[in-house]
Amino acid sequence: MNETAHPLLPPTVPLLHLAGPGAVAAVQVGGVDSADGLLVSPDPGALITLLRGLDGRRAQRAVVADAVRAGHDPAAVTALLDGLRATGLLVDLDPADLLASDAGPAALARTSAELPAAGDGRWSVRRAATVVVDGATRVGVPLAAMLAASGVGRVHVRDTGLASAGDAVVGGLTAADEGRARALAAADAVRRVSPLTDLRPPPAGSAGDLVVLAGPWSASDPLVGGLQQAGVAHLVATVRGETGVVGPLVVPGATSCLRCADLHRRDRDPRWPALAAQLTTGRTAAAGATLTCLLTAVAAAVQVLAYLDGTGAPAALGTTLELRPPELTPRTRRWPPHPECGCVPGPAVPLRGA
Ligand SMILES: [Zn+2]
Repeated sequence: MNETAHPLLPPTVPLLHLAGPGAVAAVQVGGVDSADGLLVSPDPGALITLLRGLDGRRAQRAVVADAVRAGHDPAAVTALLDGLRATGLLVDLDPADLLASDAGPAALARTSAELPAAGDGRWSVRRAATVVVDGATRVGVPLAAMLAASGVGRVHVRDTGLASAGDAVVGGLTAADEGRARALAAADAVRRVSPLTDLRPPPAGSAGDLVVLAGPWSASDPLVGGLQQAGVAHLVATVRGETGVVGPLVVPGATSCLRCADLHRRDRDPRWPALAAQLTTGRTAAAGATLTCLLTAVAAAVQVLAYLDGTGAPAALGTTLELRPPELTPRTRRWPPHPECGCVPGPAVPLRGA
């Protein structure tokens, strides 16, 4: 355990009383659903006060000192905290995460519901991140709102069009937004769930930490080449026809790029470049059923957060996840680096002869 860890027992962890004739009174902490729990006894009354006081605002040392003043045995309190930690019920907050949260009781209430899932030390990373969502679509707007609610500090939705009636979706634009500038309506949708998120575009000279391409065929848009050249990570998240598409997530220089995927498509169908050019011209009608759009947005948010958190390789690196109704079970398509593209430095090839 790190000395500065601030133990948090999320208020949603159930504390269940166990008592019966002849039985010692005890408290079961968690242990419902498939998660492990911990049985604690005796003196449930004092224990519950101690457990509910684990709000992540005090370092473990202060928690133990306060518990001793309340009459607890310090070794027993430390053993209790270690036991909770071993079950995964206790979250150790990094003090930097607390400092990175917005001030005020409402902001704190929103954050306390999100922090346990974010995990140790990741909240402050998310708060410092900037994500641009290109396209205020039925996927892009709920995705932007989810990222803001999940702690991303700056979320900007870029779009130049006007909202149509078909753009309305749960968590995104509303029916009342019809005719408004889509970018402004999208900013309102983000503000509804996360009023203090910075909605401004990235500062001049920066493209943000990641750009989400939420337009239907933006992956084939020649403008995307600029992101690759500038070294900006980008992720496709859209619905084409009825199919939700998440990925590939492109980390320039490290993964295959969107041009690689385009070259693979051309290999399979030489007419592809001419077809793609038509697909990228003009805005297409709002696409995707509500369930498809929201599941696509959730799957994309998971990828964005995995990338920002840096906790593991996101599944969409060089890969497309496709969600097709009615099952919406993700299917994957891999896009290896294309030999003609040269975006990923290949292994050194030894020269033969001489
Ligand atoms: Zn490439």
